[in-house]
Amino acid sequence: MRLLDTLDKNRERPLVIAGPCSAESCEQMLATAKELNHERVDYYRAGIWKPRTRPGSFEGYGKKALPWLKEAKDTYGFRTCTEVAKTEHVEAALDADVDLLWVGARTTTNPFAVQEIAEALAGVDVEVLVKNPINPDLSLWMGGIERLKRKGITKIGAIHRGFSIYAKSNFRNQPLWQIPLELKRNCPDLPVICDPSHICGRRDIIFDVSQKALDLNFDGLMIETHINPDVALSDAAQQLTPVVYNETIHALELSLANPDSQSRIHLSEYRNTIDDLDTELLQILRSRMDIVEKIAAYKKEHKISIYQKERWAKILTKSNNKAEQMDLDTKFVQDIFRAIHQSSINLQEKIIRKR
Ligand code: PEP
Ligand code: MN
Repeated sequence: MRLLDTLDKNRERPLVIAGPCSAESCEQMLATAKELNHERVDYYRAGIWKPRTRPGSFEGYGKKALPWLKEAKDTYGFRTCTEVAKTEHVEAALDADVDLLWVGARTTTNPFAVQEIAEALAGVDVEVLVKNPINPDLSLWMGGIERLKRKGITKIGAIHRGFSIYAKSNFRNQPLWQIPLELKRNCPDLPVICDPSHICGRRDIIFDVSQKALDLNFDGLMIETHINPDVALSDAAQQLTPVVYNETIHALELSLANPDSQSRIHLSEYRNTIDDLDTELLQILRSRMDIVEKIAAYKKEHKISIYQKERWAKILTKSNNKAEQMDLDTKFVQDIFRAIHQSSINLQEKIIRKR
């Protein structure tokens, strides 16, 4: 069994948390726990208090469900965890012998609520994970962690569960991987666990997102599992049956955080080449901007407007065709050209408007 505070960076496998989104009955909790591969579960989770976006949805059974979590713990020997959002939850969960508490995404968004939890936990030797806030704000996430640390909590980690953003996408919550990676860069010793269930919102892509998290060197995974997901009272579409969970965890490949020296040499050869290519890319951009400066001076002299619709359409079509021919992701190439074009317009504006 892996514990949050004994995670080593040269791990043999990630820390894994499995269990239902919500505790629905003692039978559901025991049946799910029974079918999980016990070798591949470090903590058994269940939501007791469920913060739902709209009122009227299932909001968890509250305190009455705590003994069900305890029964799963006593029967199968799992360590257990649940979400807490206020003092009352913290006290009830600790009284019911829950080992690890997590702060949910909606709660991390609110510093008053995190502070309340931190105060309720002052002086208690318990493991705590802080989910990222709903909005993509790294400072708010770090702020939540700091509030707990300031109250003396030492066994602490973070959970990346994706971010709610306006754009439509395949994900329920956009992963925006650069944010948790930045968190890891800022706090190198902080265990960071990925929650693919809430990122994906659907079960068919949980494996891919989990593998990606491991490839990015996350320290663990939290995956929602339910004995009969289709009738789950919350998050039905994203929960895995224990059987699929067991297969998923078994199939995941663990990349090594510290590659041995031979692979390090190979990697550094590739990386040197990449660095050279990146420098060339930047030099090309510089040369392109030199031309843009000349064009701006010409347009200014001849009173030609900066933005030329046909020209931009042509650049887009041409780069799109070329990208296809070269087997490059066309969306990616388009995004790059959009950014280059925008920067060119900005530079021209600066030159032309400067009297
Ligand atoms: C959960 O883990 O069930 C949950 C409600 O998560 P989040 O806070 O990430 O929405
Ligand atoms: Mn859930």
